[in-house]
Amino acid sequence: MKRTFLLIAIFALTTVFAAAQRLPELATPENYKITLAPDFDKDNFAGEETIQIRVLKPTSEIVLNSAQIEFQNATITTGGATQTAKVTLDKTKEMATLAFDKALQPGGASLHIKYTGILNDELRGLYLGKDHEGRKYAVSQFESTDARRAFPSFDEPDYKATFDLTVIADKGLSAISNEKIASDTPGPSDAKHTVKFATTAKMSSYLVALAVGQFEYVEGQADGIPIRVWGPPGSKKDGTYALEVAEQCMKYFNHYFGIKYPFDKLDMIGLPDFAAGAMENTGFITYREVILLIDDKKASVGLHQTVATVIAHEMAHQWFGDLVTMKWWDDIWLNEGFATWMENKAVAAWKPEWHLELDDAEGTTGTLGVDALKNTRPIHQAAETPAQIQELFDGIAYGKAASVLRMLEAYLGPETFRAGVDTYLKQHAYGNATADDFWKTLAQVSKKPVDQIMPTFVKQPGAPIISVQTQCTGGSNTVTLSQKRYFYDRSLFEQGNDELWQVPMCLKQDGGKGQKCVLLTKKEQTFTLPACGSWVVANAGATGYYRSGYTPEAIRAISKTAETDLTPAERIFLLSDSWASVRVGEQQIGDYLALAEGLQTDRTRAVLEQMAGQVNYISDYLVTDTDRDAYEQWIRKLFSPIAKELGWTPKPGESDETKALRARIMGVLGHAGRDPEVIAEARKLTDAALKDPGALDHTLAFTVFGLSAQNGDSALYDELMEHLQQKGASLEDYYIYFQSISQFRDPKLLQKTLDFAVSPAVRSQDSLGLISAVMENPAGTRVAWDFVQAHWTDIAKVGGGFTSGEVVNATSAICDVGMRSEVQDFFSTHKVPTAERTLKQSLERMDYCVDLKSRQTPQLALWLEHQGASAGQY
Ligand SMILES: [Zn+2]
Repeated sequence: MKRTFLLIAIFALTTVFAAAQRLPELATPENYKITLAPDFDKDNFAGEETIQIRVLKPTSEIVLNSAQIEFQNATITTGGATQTAKVTLDKTKEMATLAFDKALQPGGASLHIKYTGILNDELRGLYLGKDHEGRKYAVSQFESTDARRAFPSFDEPDYKATFDLTVIADKGLSAISNEKIASDTPGPSDAKHTVKFATTAKMSSYLVALAVGQFEYVEGQADGIPIRVWGPPGSKKDGTYALEVAEQCMKYFNHYFGIKYPFDKLDMIGLPDFAAGAMENTGFITYREVILLIDDKKASVGLHQTVATVIAHEMAHQWFGDLVTMKWWDDIWLNEGFATWMENKAVAAWKPEWHLELDDAEGTTGTLGVDALKNTRPIHQAAETPAQIQELFDGIAYGKAASVLRMLEAYLGPETFRAGVDTYLKQHAYGNATADDFWKTLAQVSKKPVDQIMPTFVKQPGAPIISVQTQCTGGSNTVTLSQKRYFYDRSLFEQGNDELWQVPMCLKQDGGKGQKCVLLTKKEQTFTLPACGSWVVANAGATGYYRSGYTPEAIRAISKTAETDLTPAERIFLLSDSWASVRVGEQQIGDYLALAEGLQTDRTRAVLEQMAGQVNYISDYLVTDTDRDAYEQWIRKLFSPIAKELGWTPKPGESDETKALRARIMGVLGHAGRDPEVIAEARKLTDAALKDPGALDHTLAFTVFGLSAQNGDSALYDELMEHLQQKGASLEDYYIYFQSISQFRDPKLLQKTLDFAVSPAVRSQDSLGLISAVMENPAGTRVAWDFVQAHWTDIAKVGGGFTSGEVVNATSAICDVGMRSEVQDFFSTHKVPTAERTLKQSLERMDYCVDLKSRQTPQLALWLEHQGASAGQY
């Protein structure tokens, strides 16, 4: 599954475990024959299923998962005799116990169940969605534990079985599922048709999928596998880009994995109502409409990249997750980490000019930020209840697991790593596996201590910072490396820790004086480099999952030749490592700002993106009113030359990287620099784009509209609102307006945005994202927090199920002692079971922000004053 969307949220996990909710090991399923008949007048469905099971031991009951299901009749047939079950439901555990008078004996049996279910509005199970014209459709979202809302089942990932699905649908409606259509016949009544799908491969229940509604598609193929891209009526023209991506990915994966695409066809559909980003159901991937169906000619570079990487992610799951599935949810990282690691790799092979390898480096630095919290979690984490399982889909399962896999690939070499992956997939195809299975295979194939290294990153929380000390003796360089867990919490950081990592790492010296790869296995170890130099970088290649700790002198030395001696990915890490040292007081903010100045001739989009993120943070939280002018001047001095080179208008034949860089640079100049010329030009472009959406390069649009909103008045607000509610805008334009109304500075306008967020005009999947965006706008934090408290019932209702942690996560934007206690008090009486760890993390982030502000604000003032004095210009 892909969770993140336009507004990035990090979710996390609780440590308090309720009683286990696992099925007793009484029987296993072999095949399900399921007939579903949705009724769009009553918003429910009739279901009938026959489950071929194998009884494992003598028992007088069978336990299935079931939720929101009404049983009408349940029988079991074994040895030619049929008996009726007495059904008892346990709502809390989402289980149904089928009790029989005569005990069942080990062996084959056939369960037959007639039931009804509801087409709910919770975006999970088999739910009801509506397209832009209000036409209803039914679609499934079963991961993690919601197949049980569509059919009583052994709804745990290691109960793999084959499925024969039949759908009775209204005439004129399409039905799409995991497999090809075996037959489509009129009846049973005049107004219906019956669609039977072919038998699926052996798979987990959470990967079963179904959509019934009015849809259209474009069709293609790759390596003989038919591929179709579906969407609501009228969307066909917007499916061609996704089709091209899917064809490219199919060829890439067929080549990369030793196993060819293991299913018969691939359908993909873009849905107007969809909670996650996308879901990797076997042979039938579901997406949010905006990240599948786009106008290939007009859409922004960012949206093109998102569509491509999300498709690659979901398609990688067809092998990692669908063909081989984790035994239990505690190893969900094997699915999500792999798909996340693979998404950029597959797309980079097709579009190397996007430099997605740099986004990997940026992603790793971001994940290290989550892992710097006390309340982070290890990659491998026990979970039993649906709420606990849901919380596992977080920045650790996706980002950290992907980063650790990337480090491992760099350590083993890409071909050895691939050979290990192939062996693992072949060993467990159509079955289940654990993390231990994975790294044992990699250790065998590579003959390297993968099984020693991986547990230190997978079973321990956090990540190390590796400090580098160098000494030149007799012409050779003695490098002492020492590792320590990095915490934003300064007292914990200073106090030290017991964790010990086995870190594969490469060292690099200035002036191309050689690179050496080592395995750090102790708290402190010494290595020798053959020549002396002025600096040593400890994460050469920028593939390591750790931070490097340098002295301020070393940072200064590195930054002098960083642009020639370091790769862009290494420069991203250098910025991140320096900022991390500021966060814990090992360096002063001036050291970081001096490094940023040192990189001012850099023109790499991703490096400047990293820098922009940090200087915007400083602007939002650390700059006082007194220093504001001086800081803005400094920002303009740093970034204006780049803006002048780029200009506002894309040049013919310009690269996507340059387009993306322009958006970043104008963004930071307008936001942190409050550059009047940039703001005025952004407004001009906004006005023109409101008259004609085709007038503005879409890659620049989010920035331009955002800046205009930040500096906008109620007239602009009203105009944006009007556009937002007009029909016929492209989905990307819709989200540009949607995002903009969270960026104003006037609390009265932001209040209107918040009211709008919980109104019926906004699809429930988008509501919490909008509230969170207002909270993350420094001008809106207070008003959004007050709104959340006052409207908690509405918010909890909208957020039920999949997205409930989003608002809790957004409170991280608070940087104020008083508001922090309000948050703590409020959530102690308004519990969010799926966001307990998220709450702890948010409170932690508030503490660190307050602490950083009190320590670095005076330092920042001093540094700016010094700059002004030496430059004589402020
Ligand atoms: Zn995924």
